[in-house]
Amino acid sequence: MIKKYLYFFGGGRAEGNESMKNLLGGKGANLAEMAGHKNLRLPVPPGFTISTEVCTYFYANKNQYPKGLRDDVHKLIKKIEALMKRKFGDVENPLLVSVRSGARKSMPGMMETILNVGLTTKTIPGLIEQSKNERFVYDSYRRLITMYSDVVMEKAGGIEPDENMGIRKQLDKIMDKIKAERNVKNDTDLNVDDLKNLCVLFKKKVKAVLKKDFPDDPFDQLWGAIGAVFSSWNGKRAVSYRRIENIPDEWGTAVNVQSMVFGNMGDDSATGVAFTRNPGNGDNHFYGEYLVNAQGEDVVAGIRTPAPINEVSKNDHNQKLVSLEKGMAKIYQELFSYRKRLEKHYRDMLDIEFTIEKGRLFMLQCRVGKRNGPAAIKMAVDMVEEKLITAKMAVSRVTPAQVDELLHPIIDPKDEKLNRPIAHGLPAGPGGASGMIVFSAIDAVNWAKDGKKIILVREETNPEDVEGMRAAQAILTARGGMTSHAALVARGWGKCCVVGAGEIQIDYAKKTMTIGNEIFKEGEWFTLNGTKGNVHKGSLKMIDASSENKSLMKFLKFCDESRRLKIRTNADTPEDAKRARMYGAEGIGLFRVEHMFYGKGSDKALFLLRKMIVSKTVEERIKALKELFPYMKADIKGTLREMKGYPVTIRLIDPPLHEFVPREEEKRRELAKSLNIDLKEFKKRANQLHENNPMMGHRGVRLGITYPEITETQVRAILEATAELMRENIKVEPEIMIPVTCNVKELEDQGIIIKRIYEEVQKKFKIKKINYLVGTMIEIPRAALTAGEMAKIAEFFSFGTNDLTQMGFGFSRDDIGGFLPDYLERGILPDDPFQTIDQEGIGELMKIGIERGRKTRKNLKVGICGEHGGDPRSIDFCHKVGMNYVSCSPFRVPIARLAAAQAAM
Ligand code: PEP
Ligand code: MG
Repeated sequence: MIKKYLYFFGGGRAEGNESMKNLLGGKGANLAEMAGHKNLRLPVPPGFTISTEVCTYFYANKNQYPKGLRDDVHKLIKKIEALMKRKFGDVENPLLVSVRSGARKSMPGMMETILNVGLTTKTIPGLIEQSKNERFVYDSYRRLITMYSDVVMEKAGGIEPDENMGIRKQLDKIMDKIKAERNVKNDTDLNVDDLKNLCVLFKKKVKAVLKKDFPDDPFDQLWGAIGAVFSSWNGKRAVSYRRIENIPDEWGTAVNVQSMVFGNMGDDSATGVAFTRNPGNGDNHFYGEYLVNAQGEDVVAGIRTPAPINEVSKNDHNQKLVSLEKGMAKIYQELFSYRKRLEKHYRDMLDIEFTIEKGRLFMLQCRVGKRNGPAAIKMAVDMVEEKLITAKMAVSRVTPAQVDELLHPIIDPKDEKLNRPIAHGLPAGPGGASGMIVFSAIDAVNWAKDGKKIILVREETNPEDVEGMRAAQAILTARGGMTSHAALVARGWGKCCVVGAGEIQIDYAKKTMTIGNEIFKEGEWFTLNGTKGNVHKGSLKMIDASSENKSLMKFLKFCDESRRLKIRTNADTPEDAKRARMYGAEGIGLFRVEHMFYGKGSDKALFLLRKMIVSKTVEERIKALKELFPYMKADIKGTLREMKGYPVTIRLIDPPLHEFVPREEEKRRELAKSLNIDLKEFKKRANQLHENNPMMGHRGVRLGITYPEITETQVRAILEATAELMRENIKVEPEIMIPVTCNVKELEDQGIIIKRIYEEVQKKFKIKKINYLVGTMIEIPRAALTAGEMAKIAEFFSFGTNDLTQMGFGFSRDDIGGFLPDYLERGILPDDPFQTIDQEGIGELMKIGIERGRKTRKNLKVGICGEHGGDPRSIDFCHKVGMNYVSCSPFRVPIARLAAAQAAM
């Protein structure tokens, strides 16, 4: 074989290392690092990794292996034999191996593992002689038969059994039957004879169902297992998971063949999973679970309740169980020392798997651990304070989605107090969520498609459920621990999740669940607190709690040190402005004047605006505007005051006026009366305002061109509010923004009005100078193309990417929902262009606009105020094209601070 496909590790050395994830997969690369790096050299059972290139070859060559691979695998088996002083297939002193998958990125539970490979009727006596533990050997054998028949013979064999008729389920049924006959609860309570009997029955069942004998040759088992792991890359679950997580199909998986060590050799043996810090909240505590006398699969499968590894990992469910810290103190200390070494070496939180074989500790896996948003932020901040990482590293480690998680609602504590939980489980995913309960992944997907909010309730989840889990607001399981499948997946996604709520009994057939004496049907509302692990009946009130999170505030300060882009907010009320300031906004990028007519307490102002709109003569209109003026000034002044010291961009009225004309007869009558006209005349005027294509009609700057008095009133309100605040010694920086422009002449026209009003206000207030800017939105393609001209008048540009996308694509921003799903599904568009800037087209217009604008006016201030201003990928683009700021809704300000910092790194 010319190419190197195999990488050995063990005996204090390794051919690979942590940086080789693409080739060795995450698991293989980290095994090599743990086994071979001079800082670590931890007790890793020897083994080797078959690289991902073999997987690629396997799929490109009709499931064949590269030439020479077989011989080389057999050579490395010999190497393991030498280190372990055992032989694969040997009658007296047999070596067993595990065969596991390992992709570049962890795909929890999506691919396959087979343990105890090499156990056959011939090697069984040898292993019994060696271990002096007959029970252990048959326990291992029944596990091998289960895993192998399921993974290799059934799944990799392309057999698709009916629901609940899979070989694993059928074997489990036999085991349950024996347990019932023997009147025991746990599989550890079965004795040697039970297990021996079980193995016989298992093999019979395998033959009957799968029409093949269970293989009794160790090398047949080995190659069957390797092939099955490669095949599992294209298994249904793995493929769906890749779609959701955007993992490319070409990556392929590696296969790790490693000598077995046994956690099921008796009460001095165990297996466990741990996190170097708490992945649920970020606390700097070693955190984990273990099971005495068990193999790895038992912990993850949630079959028995695992015990805590130490006292701090105890919770309501496991507090009576003996911790590893107390039960096997010396081993715990050893493990604890590895935790420290690993964190120091990797400078991150790790997720580790270990096995204790007859009082000896082995490390089976380590990888950077998945964590939810709150934990990610707390750990990043703590590690900077511990001098383990730099502030820059902290910033690069947290994703915008993780920050978003912290901004998710929690249950209102007041409401929570009034509604006691009716069940408890483990807190596996953060925040609160409400929804209607459903009991299958398919129902979850379908109900969510109908726009319903749902909670997926399952006995325990398995990888087949991922799509349903994705569609749900929250996940609730009756079984499983913090390392169970549901918990891992929910944590990765930052989804609200409660696992192991033991009080719940589910009846899948009837689609009900019982808690105590109460029966609940599919569709009933529940609320989960994923931070506490509580289950509440009904839909509880949610609130936002992010401002109370100290770590988040510190973390965002780190972001601020790295970013160049300023972050502003789109806000139209003093309350929104205040919230945005709390989140760190450095100004308002869009104050839409018309929004003062929508909110609470806007009745009178709206009435006056309507009066102005249906005025016929200039005199009528001016009279109405005069009445409206004090409301407008007060509103603008309130927001300017809230944003003292920061710029505020106030956009003149934009929407077509007829949008404001009332439809109700009563309101129309009232308005007619105030204008001294009859209802017939009112209707005539209203009809005259009607337009066929209002989005491209009489709106934006066009209103100011036809009715200069509308511009005058707004500008006067802005400048007088500013002058009054200046008298109070409050520093304000208004920026007057003219919307929907396409021609510099429009700006010239409005500029003259603004200048005139400015001089009047100056005189009235006897002020030498009021600082203000005049600028425009760039939201029509022509404006972008003629930006060089526009910048002669405009002192700033703000890209209105909502309209620019609408007019650039010719897609109505209000109607795209009708055809977008088809465009996305067929790959005609990669994303919704109203969420993420289309860099190829709309982005090109923006680049041209900035370039040409700055050619005319070197210091032209440029920002964005369309919805894209809060989208991380679009923010990255805004940074690259040299904007000065992005502006987004108050809730997205923290995400924007992070995205802007990452864009700058
Ligand atoms: C825009 O068009 O991007 C914009 C911010 O303005 P509006 O959404 O009010 O049209
Ligand atoms: Mg617009």
